[in-house]
Amino acid sequence: MTEVQESRESGKAINSDEKTRQVKEVAINAGIDVVGIAPAERWDDAAPEGHRPADILPGARSVVVLGTRGPTAGAWQSPDHRFMEVNGYDFRNDLIVQIVADFIESEFDHYAIMAPALSVSGHQPVMSMMLAAVLAGLGTRSLAANIILNPKYGLLYYSACITTLELIPDPMLVQDVCPHPMCVATYRKIGKTPCTAACPSDDGGCLDGEIDEEGRIASSYFDRERCTSRAMNFGINSFQKAMEQIVTEDDPESQTNMINSEFFTRSCSAISSFRESVAQCFECMRVCPITRPERKLK
Ligand code: SF4
Ligand code: SF4
Repeated sequence: MTEVQESRESGKAINSDEKTRQVKEVAINAGIDVVGIAPAERWDDAAPEGHRPADILPGARSVVVLGTRGPTAGAWQSPDHRFMEVNGYDFRNDLIVQIVADFIESEFDHYAIMAPALSVSGHQPVMSMMLAAVLAGLGTRSLAANIILNPKYGLLYYSACITTLELIPDPMLVQDVCPHPMCVATYRKIGKTPCTAACPSDDGGCLDGEIDEEGRIASSYFDRERCTSRAMNFGINSFQKAMEQIVTEDDPESQTNMINSEFFTRSCSAISSFRESVAQCFECMRVCPITRPERKLK
C-alpha cells in the first residue's frame, strides 16, 4: 500500500507513484542522464553498519541515485587527454542531487540529504556511490577497476539523495552489463578483455580477471594503489609528495625553485579549484565497447 499525502504546491492528494514520477522528472529536467530509486533496506545485507542510509539520515526509507556521463563525447575525442577531464566534467550530479533534495523537502515535507560519498579513511567512503548505483538498478560491476557500467551509457558519475519519503523502488538489474559479448569473444581468443589488455597487471598495469563458461565474470583483480599513482598525477597525492620534498630541502634556492615549479603549481591548483587536471588515465574505459555507442557522434 502506498502513502497518500497532499502536494504542497497543488494541494491535490498524490500517492507514492506520483511522487516518484515527480522526483524523477525534476532530476531529468535538471539535466541528469539516469535516475534510479532503491529502498533503504537494500543496504542491510549489502553494507556494514555505519555505511547504510539510516546511519546518515535516521528514518531513511528511499535513496534516489543520479548518474551523469561527465565528459562530453567531444571531450573524449580530444587528443590531449587532460581536456577530457578539465573541460569535460561539470559535477552536475552533485548539483542536481541538491535540487532533488530541495524538491523533496519543499514539495513533500520529508527530510532529504545528499549522501556523503567522500572518503573518510583511505579509499573508504561513508556511503559507496558504486553500491548505490547497483542497488538502484542503474548498473553492474565491471572488470575495469570495478567501475559500475550502465547498460546504455557505460561509465557514469553518481550522486545520491537519502530521504525519509517513501518512493517506488526500481528493480536491480538481473543481466550483468560486463562483460560485453565482444569482450567474451576476445577473452576466449587471447585470455584478456579490451580493458585488461589495456592495463594488464602482469605488465605494469592494474587489471586482471577471468570469465567463466557462461560468459560471466568469474574473478577480477584491480590494483587500486597502482591505478591511483598512474591515473592521478595531480591532486592531494602529488601535493603531499611535493610538500614533503620542499620542507626537507636544505638549499633555499632549490626550495624556492621547487615552490615555483610547474609541478607544485599544478598540484596546488588541482586541490584548490579542481580546474586543473587530476586524473589523466581513462584507458580502460576508452576501449570498453559498452561506453562507445553513446560517444559516437559526427
Ligand atoms: S584508469 Fe588507467 S591506470 Fe587505472 S585501471 Fe584504468 S587504465 Fe589502468
Ligand atoms: S572492456 Fe568493458 S565490457 Fe569489456 S570486460 Fe572490460 S569493462 Fe567489461
